[in-house]
Amino acid sequence: MTSRADAARLDEQDPLAGFRDRFVIDDEDLVYLDGNSLGRLPRATRGRLLRAVDEEWGRGLVTSWSSWVDLATDVGDRLGAAVLGAAPGQTLVSDSTSVNLYKLAVSALDARPGRTAVVIDVGEFPTDRFVLEGICAARGLEMRTGDGLDGSVGLVVCSHVSYATGERLDVRATSDAVHDVGALVLWDLSHSAGAVPIELDAAGADLAVGCTYKYLNAGPGAPAFLYVRSALQTQLRQPIWGWFGQRDQFAMGPVYDPYSDLRRFQVGTPPVLGMHAVDEGVALVAEAGIDALAAKGAALTAFAIELADAWLAPLGFDVVTPRDAQRRGAHVALRHPDAWPICQALVERARVVPDFRAPDIVRLGLAPLFTRFVDVWEGVDRVRRLVEFGDHKRYPSALGRIT
Ligand SMILES: *Cc1c(COP(=O)(O)O)cnc(C)c1O
Repeated sequence: MTSRADAARLDEQDPLAGFRDRFVIDDEDLVYLDGNSLGRLPRATRGRLLRAVDEEWGRGLVTSWSSWVDLATDVGDRLGAAVLGAAPGQTLVSDSTSVNLYKLAVSALDARPGRTAVVIDVGEFPTDRFVLEGICAARGLEMRTGDGLDGSVGLVVCSHVSYATGERLDVRATSDAVHDVGALVLWDLSHSAGAVPIELDAAGADLAVGCTYKYLNAGPGAPAFLYVRSALQTQLRQPIWGWFGQRDQFAMGPVYDPYSDLRRFQVGTPPVLGMHAVDEGVALVAEAGIDALAAKGAALTAFAIELADAWLAPLGFDVVTPRDAQRRGAHVALRHPDAWPICQALVERARVVPDFRAPDIVRLGLAPLFTRFVDVWEGVDRVRRLVEFGDHKRYPSALGRIT
């Protein structure tokens, strides 16, 4: 069976191995397998934030707005090019994923008057379902959780990579099917941005949103991104009429007259420090290259699945992530009836940080920029030993405030 030395050999052959040193890692014994929930802090980001605070804010004060005012579109273009396969002028860094989802879902439905239904899978991330549920309640629309694509549907919302199972959808095939009934499709890229290639332009995607604090390592609460295909921009009008969407913003005019391009999807004053962090996170992904990152993510997840089959299946774990690397992202989901006690015990006793997703999934996030093959080996080995000894049995099965 694969030994730790075999894992170390895989690290020696890894062309991206050097990127680990670009992150702040102050505890080498901690096996962090949660980069898909909160990515690590890049060293460059720390430096950039210190400079932004001291020089731009501390010294420059309000005059620094001249360098901040276009960050949303400038950083958006760089993110679009490096991560989304998007030509300039279609990606904006703004607000949170939930808020961007609301903005784009309402815009899309306004552009499909007369359509009475939206489609979203029951297994979708809660905020996506809740935002849509609220929109449907306000407009008297039917929310379909499952199949049922027909001419009454105005919008389909789906994740490119499922937060729970890790399954990846084909953007082109799904977009084509949705377009066939005349609806628009809104992608949530939170678990694929920075992990796998996304060719939004080439695949004919309409709209997308996603987080930057996961595989893009921009830090807690960093602003999200949104994408609107250029052909749709003038047709769509978003529901939050803020002054950053206004064509002549500082004329302080009496009525809302939004930009005709992507900038109409801005709302208010952008979170500047977070924008700097997104820019650095994106620069690291661009430097490594998304294809190289995806290749490493495929190898790391394959290694985790191989070890899980050998060591964890006999202990009652089931791999729910697809075994075809083209059909998954960079995390592996393991189902186990004691998933929550196991996760608590892993963090407190085994120094492994996975995460738990209700009701019964242990998620191993293998962020390819900083996760090593020895981390995968150590992580799965510690899970095996912990469950063999029954260390998780003294942990409660009632869920905590944050899981
Ligand atoms: C993480 C995640 C979110 C988070 O949205 P926020 O507005 O940043 O809280 C949304 N959707 C998906 C699919 C996610 O994985």
